[in-house]
Amino acid sequence: MSCELCGGGDMWIKTCLTTEGSRLLVCDPCYEEHSSILVIVPGDRVVMARCDYCWCYGNPREFVEVSPGGRKNAYSGTCAACASEEGS
Ligand SMILES: [Zn+2]
Ligand SMILES: [Zn+2]
Repeated sequence: MSCELCGGGDMWIKTCLTTEGSRLLVCDPCYEEHSSILVIVPGDRVVMARCDYCWCYGNPREFVEVSPGGRKNAYSGTCAACASEEGS
């Protein structure tokens, strides 16, 4: 999975629609650069992570440790709140 604009990207690449209606996989920086012509496809690939400790769902970017393969294709890991509790 890589960005169709720059060839880079990461595991959280977005699926977007251009104003012409074609689908494009783009990374965050490319999305920001072209956000005026790109619309994120809602629900196409829901990227969610579930915390192993409190079971909350959230953005995997905000999680301290994430790994794919959680329930319903979600990532599982430790949310920021639990991670800071654990570390103190
Ligand atoms: Zn890119
Ligand atoms: Zn948590």
